Amino acid sequence: DLLVVGSANADLVIGVERRPAAGETVLGSDLAVHPGGKGANQAVAAARLGARTALLARVGDDAHGRLLLDSQREAGVDTEGVLVGGAPTGVALITVDPSGDNSIVVSPGANGRLTPEDVRAAGSLFQASRVVSAQLEIPLETVVEVVRGLAPGSRFVLNPSPPRPLPTEVLAACDPLIVNEHEARVIAGTALGDSPEDWATALLALGPRSVVVTLGAEGALVASAEGIARVPSVKVEAVDTTGAGDAFTAALAWRLGRGESPEEAAGYAARVGAAAVTRPGAQESFPTAEEAEAL
Ligand code: ADP
Repeated sequence: DLLVVGSANADLVIGVERRPAAGETVLGSDLAVHPGGKGANQAVAAARLGARTALLARVGDDAHGRLLLDSQREAGVDTEGVLVGGAPTGVALITVDPSGDNSIVVSPGANGRLTPEDVRAAGSLFQASRVVSAQLEIPLETVVEVVRGLAPGSRFVLNPSPPRPLPTEVLAACDPLIVNEHEARVIAGTALGDSPEDWATALLALGPRSVVVTLGAEGALVASAEGIARVPSVKVEAVDTTGAGDAFTAALAWRLGRGESPEEAAGYAARVGAAAVTRPGAQESFPTAEEAEAL
């Protein structure tokens, strides 16, 4: 049903009292290693909800790659499309200080080697998928090839993160383009008004068939030529918002692929996103269908 094309990273996390200055060494906590990357996160989020999900990604032939493959398989993701080798697995080196602020260095590694050729070689996955979801932690030319490889009648969903200006061909395929405020501002490339309705209107003018703006604890907004609707959030005790956007996007893409209306699908996705913020971590925090329904 759902094909996710995107990144897979090992997140290496160390707690520190303070960040080292140039030339300095500081001691930190024990190392924690978590499976991450927006593509891998989305695939796990969808599969945990019960979606039939496949991942097209590239990891290295190394321990981090095996960790990522294991977490995908454990969640029930079809990993036939996960290519191995060509570069080390992508890594995010994360230090967290006592106030909770992160400093992150990303080495894209194998994610940067997921090529348009890899997309063309995965034609059967595209034929089998009603909805294809991508992000921007892989080369933009690869995302362009994803758009060109869509099977007739299948739907394309894009979370342009990390954001950069997009070619018209990609924008025109998005149904929806899913952005937070920061992403909206970068994609629009011009000064935007204060209200999310203004951002959605400006983004629609760039060509996507629909736009979804995520608003954290404020929920989301769904916009298309038919109009703009607010989707309320679910009140929860937020513990850690890491991965909430990935869980929201995965749930939305899956439900849209099943034929739900954008409002219905976004309402469900808001519950999934809310559930994900009630637990620490990214993939570890994603709810099952029962947990999402219970909210
Ligand atoms: P991103 O991480 O991409 O900026 P958001 O923080 O907007 O994405 O989160 C995505 C979705 O998850 C939101 O639209 C909302 O539905 C849900 N969500 C996020 N944070 C909260 C929160 N504190 N309370 C309830 N729902 C939340």
